[in-house]
Amino acid sequence: KEMISSRIERVEESATIKSSKRAKNMIASGVDVINFTLGEPDFDTPRNITDATYRAMLAGETHYSAVAGIPELRSAIADKLRSENGIPTASENVMVTPGAKLAIFESMMTLIEDGDEVLLFDPAWVSYDACVKMAGGKTVWIETDSEKNYFSKKDLLEYITDKTKMIVINTPCNPTGAVYDKNQLKEIADLAIDHDFLVMSDEMYEKIIYDKKNYSIASFDNMHERTITINGFSKAYAMTGWRLGYMDAPQHIFKSLEKIQSHTISNVTTFVQYGGVEALTGPQDELHKMQAAFKERRGVLIEGLRKLGLKCPMPDGAFYAYPDVSEFGSGEEITDRLLEEAHVAVSPGIAFGESGKNNIRISYAASVEKIQEALVRMEKVFG
Ligand code: PLP
Repeated sequence: KEMISSRIERVEESATIKSSKRAKNMIASGVDVINFTLGEPDFDTPRNITDATYRAMLAGETHYSAVAGIPELRSAIADKLRSENGIPTASENVMVTPGAKLAIFESMMTLIEDGDEVLLFDPAWVSYDACVKMAGGKTVWIETDSEKNYFSKKDLLEYITDKTKMIVINTPCNPTGAVYDKNQLKEIADLAIDHDFLVMSDEMYEKIIYDKKNYSIASFDNMHERTITINGFSKAYAMTGWRLGYMDAPQHIFKSLEKIQSHTISNVTTFVQYGGVEALTGPQDELHKMQAAFKERRGVLIEGLRKLGLKCPMPDGAFYAYPDVSEFGSGEEITDRLLEEAHVAVSPGIAFGESGKNNIRISYAASVEKIQEALVRMEKVFG
């Protein structure tokens, strides 16, 4: 008998986790590796958030809570989405989830039917395609152009069929750092309305954005009813291990999303949700310090990579550089050589889609000193 379900057989191990495992193994065996594979801020969670959570635990907030989240957090999220993102929403549309990742999984499982097509811009963060496959759908990859914020090279209309159920957008983008402008989002919104499909808008990196503005597609006319907005606390507030995220969805979808969460996790760890309330409603100075640090690191890294002769667009958001290394080898070859010869761990671009074969992804969630040291080490490969 086949033991593993075909649903899971269809999915491969995350290639970014694979490269971070290799780096960690080398570190464990005593090699001094600078690890740029991770998608997580290197800062501590701000103390006011930890304190608020601790107070909630001491106050006895250690029991089950409502499936969609505690009312205080749902309401703080809805206020944020209305005031910062211009999304016409209310607490009843907000579901608190254990990380944005589960929000993505739950939405795909709820909305994608066998054979449905889901449009993804290539390259894309690794888990969208895996979630589409687990839900029984088919990913349709959109070829992108780095000169256009990694937006579609061809007319987007060419990818739409009567099976198109959803398009996923991720802006600022992991791995490219690209940020879509208002016109690009408007083009997607118009197509979604004209051809009656849904939009998943993953805005995880909205707080890590440099000189551009983040636009939420759910704030556009008639888009809230067909958009699931995904966001969370991991990247903005350095809370990756807390597993706290959320989604905003229109009422006609919300009840179904609630069903899946009620039969799986029941609710996000109750006291953790109080940390989320503090993150959104408490002082934001730590966030501002982290934003300034990311900006400084971006400058040092991109300038250094360009001096080494790499083609590297300036990322507008997130904390990844995505240089083209084709003059030196394929993305996979360079990833191996950087690890073995320079002891610098990065991820191969191919992990994010076919288009990434000439790229590597470097996460600059590391100190300026480490970035400078890594640039010196990289001369072994690019010198
Ligand atoms: N979306 C994007 C684009 C990400 O890069 C990540 C994490 O790497 C997530 C979602 C998941 O974040 P969370 O920690 O909230 O599950």
